[in-house]
Amino acid sequence: MAVRPVPLLGDPILRAQCEAVKNVRSPAVRVVADDLQDTLRALKKRHGKGRGLSAPQIGAPLRIVYIEIDRPWFLANPEIVDIGTHDFTVWDECFSIPNLIVRVQRAYYITVKYTDLSGKSHTVEAEGELAELLQHEIDHLDGVLIVDRPVGLDPFCFHDQWERHRAGEGRHGKPVPRTLVPA
Ligand SMILES: [Zn+2]
Repeated sequence: MAVRPVPLLGDPILRAQCEAVKNVRSPAVRVVADDLQDTLRALKKRHGKGRGLSAPQIGAPLRIVYIEIDRPWFLANPEIVDIGTHDFTVWDECFSIPNLIVRVQRAYYITVKYTDLSGKSHTVEAEGELAELLQHEIDHLDGVLIVDRPVGLDPFCFHDQWERHRAGEGRHGKPVPRTLVPA
């Protein structure tokens, strides 16, 4: 078990198309899972926040996501199988892009299929904050970052500037029906 350094924007590992996990019970997967947990907990302690981390963020290009809100939750090979009908905007942050906050658009309701570390398959529905967190972490597995998804006018902000000038907007927009044809 170890706390691993988090690669930062510009490191090619963040752009890797991560490999599917073939055997979730393998010792190699166990090491990645333990290190994800240790690293997220260390980040949380240092920054006072942090809800999730993806395997490429500890240098392992594998399709594993770790979420810790009220309990440890590992998702191997997570896949978004439904994105509902509504989107919302989110001022989103990433440990690999310190200080920056970016307005992105996410689906408000999603359904995710994944395998847990005992090999069982699950399908879960998520909405709002959990839905956007899962989309953020699953994006990492495809090498996609928040800087690739800016929406609206003036979508990039340093954190202190956001706190000073934009915090009044709130972190999340309201869910709105997705328009398939751009206006
Ligand atoms: Zn991130």
